[in-house]
Amino acid sequence: MSKYKNPNYQKDYYQKNKDKIDKYSKEWYNLNRDREIKKRTEYKKENPEWHRECSRRNMVKNYKNNPEYRKKVRLNAKEKAQKRRLLIITHYSNNTMQCNCCGDKHIEFLSIDHINGGGNKHRKELFGYTCSGDRFYSWLIRNNFPEGYQILCYNCNLSRGFYGYCPHQKEKDECIC
Ligand SMILES: [Zn+2]
Ligand SMILES: [Zn+2]
Repeated sequence: MSKYKNPNYQKDYYQKNKDKIDKYSKEWYNLNRDREIKKRTEYKKENPEWHRECSRRNMVKNYKNNPEYRKKVRLNAKEKAQKRRLLIITHYSNNTMQCNCCGDKHIEFLSIDHINGGGNKHRKELFGYTCSGDRFYSWLIRNNFPEGYQILCYNCNLSRGFYGYCPHQKEKDECIC
């Protein structure tokens, strides 16, 4: 087939001469490295939208095709989420790192609570659905730690959600000492 009629001519040509072309491009790049890097950096600066879109596309491609990269991204996300959670707990517990009701100090049990209730409703307003955890923590950090939240352990938090009170408080109220 004539090369003008074959729509894959360029692709085929590259496949056939892959080693030669790759070697040549590499040599050319090494020779012009500094100039190329400068040129690309400038282009990125002038076209931030384009650069963002390119990086995003590369990340998606890598994420799909590269299991190592996928693992790294997931680990990073997990680590960052843990750091955010720790930051939130530290701030809203006034550095005590404990449940504001029963004083439980197991970090794994601690969670954020809307002091006046309505947590799910608020999250739904923010995100369109009731999300828990990291997305909400990011929102709190982005909004400079708004007031109206406290740290409770899951027991105290759930009890307040289900029954409107925590038995610990009742016990305290009933205590005559
Ligand atoms: Zn508690
Ligand atoms: Zn409690």
